[in-house]
Amino acid sequence: MIACLERYVHETDAESRQDVSSICKTLDLQGSIEFGGGPTGFADKDFGGVYSFEPLAVIRPSCADDVARVVKAASRSSNLTVAARGNGHSINGQAMAHRGLVLDMRSTEDNHFKLLTINGVYYVDVSGGALWEDVLKRCVSKFGMAPRSWTDYLSLTVGGTLSNAGVSGQAFRYGPQTSNVTELEVVTGKGDVLICSENENPELFFGVLGGLGQFGVITRARVVLQSAPDMVRWIRVVYSEFDEFTRDAELLVTQPVKGESSFDYVEGFVFVNSDDRVNGWPSVLLDPGHGFEPDHKPPTAGSVLYCLEVALHYNSDNNLSAVDTVVSTMLGRLGFNRNLKFQVDVSYVDFLLRVKRVEEQAKTSGIWDSPHPWLNMFVSKSDIAEFDREVFKKILKDGIGGPMLVYPVLRSKWDNRTSVMIPDEEIFYLVALLRFTCTNPKPPTVEKLVAQNHEIIQYCNKRGSDFKLYLPHYKSQEEWKNHFGNQWTRFVEMKACFDPMAILSPGQNIFSRLP
Ligand code: FAD
Repeated sequence: MIACLERYVHETDAESRQDVSSICKTLDLQGSIEFGGGPTGFADKDFGGVYSFEPLAVIRPSCADDVARVVKAASRSSNLTVAARGNGHSINGQAMAHRGLVLDMRSTEDNHFKLLTINGVYYVDVSGGALWEDVLKRCVSKFGMAPRSWTDYLSLTVGGTLSNAGVSGQAFRYGPQTSNVTELEVVTGKGDVLICSENENPELFFGVLGGLGQFGVITRARVVLQSAPDMVRWIRVVYSEFDEFTRDAELLVTQPVKGESSFDYVEGFVFVNSDDRVNGWPSVLLDPGHGFEPDHKPPTAGSVLYCLEVALHYNSDNNLSAVDTVVSTMLGRLGFNRNLKFQVDVSYVDFLLRVKRVEEQAKTSGIWDSPHPWLNMFVSKSDIAEFDREVFKKILKDGIGGPMLVYPVLRSKWDNRTSVMIPDEEIFYLVALLRFTCTNPKPPTVEKLVAQNHEIIQYCNKRGSDFKLYLPHYKSQEEWKNHFGNQWTRFVEMKACFDPMAILSPGQNIFSRLP
């Protein structure tokens, strides 16, 4: 079988078309295998739309054993690599395998779904290939429960976000998604199927969390649950001064009101001080009935403004005036512009699926499928004011055609045994430049936007800022070494232990396949 696949690698497509069913038979998979990038070539594309690498074949495993067979088969070849592909929402080809094998993990999405209680805590076992939106819907409808920590957008797989971190407005309280799983089933780069947790194979467990797919394929995750509320009060308030915005955001994530609940979600974003439909004032409104009255902002407001976004969970049988009281107590401590406050009440599930609605609109207008040269970073509290002055107020003063997120999280909620790299300070900011192209008749080229991302990174490097790229992308091992800093040696040792031939996740471009 391997010889047959290798011939396919080395010969031209026309000459080397192999009998799919015979290869499938040799591998003896319960799932299926297909040559090329799949029927629509989906495996050579990702959400970023910047890179494209065609795989040799796309495999749809049906279980961990199938994944193990594929990895073992690749290890017996001289050059085959294997990329687990979640939902392909990476930006820079991370889930691709140039002339390698792509595992379409979505084929396993229905596996494992099971509720458990251990010492009074509820967990759900889910497939690494499950979409978070399905985990949400199934947990709420079947058990009235839900995971605690999310991403903003949920058409991402469990394995895909756990390989990075998984961050949203709940992270200040519960940490990223990598802090909210207690056990994994992983297929290593040697083809071993292992269960791992804090107590069992801990090196593998912590290595895989945030491990960029380098040490194993996550086939099952055990996710902590909490009881799901019915409703969410979703509020946006506006600031003209960055220091007031950050002071309040930090207050909310560090000091809940005594004796009261704190907000359940805290995020923020920067927007342009103009009436631009995408980048400006309208981007703050939560409801078509809302209006942004520009006269209400102070005359001193600069090129950009800041929006603090918070949410409070409640149940439909709660007295609404009690909800109002809690909200006004918590907002009462904040120094936002009192005339620029917007709020709506939505169901909990609708709140968590809020970006799905954006996706639907963006698909209609075509900008969902155009390139997205995004930049995501973690910037320490000490460096964020300067970042605002140079990056938000100058380099990005006209906006980026999409959200510019900036909100604080707490280092102590991140487990430093995982592979995720974050700044050293207790408070650091997630900065996400979620660029959408084609918003005006003459959009800047993708190259120009990528160059602007480099300019921002270079500025941070030059200044000696304490920052890390999130969802990192580098072209050389030297840059990866810098990224991991004093964790590099550990990362290399784990690679040698769990994927010694460097078969897994070649699209991250960290290690080269060993023959
Ligand atoms: P893929 O892109 O398919 O894979 C990503 C990497 O993980 C690849 O290296 C792949 O090989 C590896 N991988 C995939 N599945 C597995 C597995 N089962 N086991 C081991 N390795 C695996 N991130 C946040 O933290 N917060 C957000 O709010 C957020 N919002 C987003 C919104 C949008 C619209 C998009 C496009 C992305 C967003 N992201 C966010 C980033 C997202 O979390 C990552 O890009 C994530 O990797 C995408 O998941 P995926 O399932 O598409 O993974």
